[in-house]
Amino acid sequence: MKALIDKLHQYNNLSGGEMLDLLENLDEDIRKYLISKAHETRVKHYGKKVFMRGLIEFTNYCRRNCKYCGLRVSNKKVQRYRLSFEQIIATCEQGYRLGYRTFVIQGGEDEFYNDDNIISIVKKIKTKFPTCAVTLSLGEKSYESYKKYYDAGAERYLLRHETASEELYDSLHPGMSFRERVQCLYNLKEIGYQVGAGFMVGLPNQTNRDYVQDLQFLQELQPHMVGIGPFIPHKDTPLAKETRGTLDKTITLLAIIRMLLPEVLLPATTALGTIDPFGREMGLKAGANVVMPNLSPVEVRDKYALYDDKVCTGEEAAECRECIDNRIMQAGFETDMSRGDSIQWERR
Ligand code: SAM
Ligand code: SF4
Repeated sequence: MKALIDKLHQYNNLSGGEMLDLLENLDEDIRKYLISKAHETRVKHYGKKVFMRGLIEFTNYCRRNCKYCGLRVSNKKVQRYRLSFEQIIATCEQGYRLGYRTFVIQGGEDEFYNDDNIISIVKKIKTKFPTCAVTLSLGEKSYESYKKYYDAGAERYLLRHETASEELYDSLHPGMSFRERVQCLYNLKEIGYQVGAGFMVGLPNQTNRDYVQDLQFLQELQPHMVGIGPFIPHKDTPLAKETRGTLDKTITLLAIIRMLLPEVLLPATTALGTIDPFGREMGLKAGANVVMPNLSPVEVRDKYALYDDKVCTGEEAAECRECIDNRIMQAGFETDMSRGDSIQWERR
């Protein structure tokens, strides 16, 4: 197995069969070796920097019905909220004062905000904070809508593919289609965005073969960012009784992704911090180089409940910033508050 890891480290490539072999035959020693090689790769390309993104969860209304997500339209127990235009801008102002230079505007697929509303939000942020990057994460939209947001100044878009196994994808997303999701990702790339794909780990019935498909999909798409995190059940969804994804598997996949896409921006996600108190730190040590502290007003934090027991819902933005800073330092890394664009995208 070490020879396979060396190959991955040196050539940033493995065949599907080799990926499966690696995933099926990892003991504790081999996993440690994998993590150390992923860390080397990260240091080579990014040093010890960890980029910070300020996350603004601006609406928890959603028209979709993803079976795993607490915000799904069929969940009538959620207290829904929307941040106003003014609240979104005020949240960015506070983030700016705290040093953030990337704002991630994320929400459910909420038709209350039409294209013009999104464009106004993007334009306002870009005029007020011209040195900041705007990342959108609003789900599936038409090519034309994505293009309008891009022309308004949004430069990054996060849209996880969730799972690259078409059958598994379709079973979890009533009324949606894997092909359309993939088309959205290619549209975003074509328009010129820095694109983030990604998947969940530990979904019901997900196998190592499915992860191989995820890894191969990422190799094909060559996204600038990859967001992966464990699936965590939410009590008011059809998957309430399922088992959550594991720390080991998520860390293993983070390490493999770091070596397959050595320049990728790879967050240590909140979900990882939810399944283990030191999950994010372990993610950073396995090749992750981004964290996304929450800037949303504290009153709405617990309403953006994708899954149960989400961490960091009680702290003010400033406390979050300080806490994450300390965690990054204690894990042996350095906080970087710059825009932190993808190296691959900067070279275009
Ligand atoms: N609505 C947009 C979308 O789906 O792309 C953006 C917001 S959505 C809440 C962000 C991500 O949350 C999804 O891509 C999904 O991977 C993740 N998520 C949702 N429910 C989850 C759960 N139960 N466990 C872990 N991650 C979850
Ligand atoms: Fe809506 Fe996104 Fe949740 Fe699916 S994952 S229900 S699209 S918020």
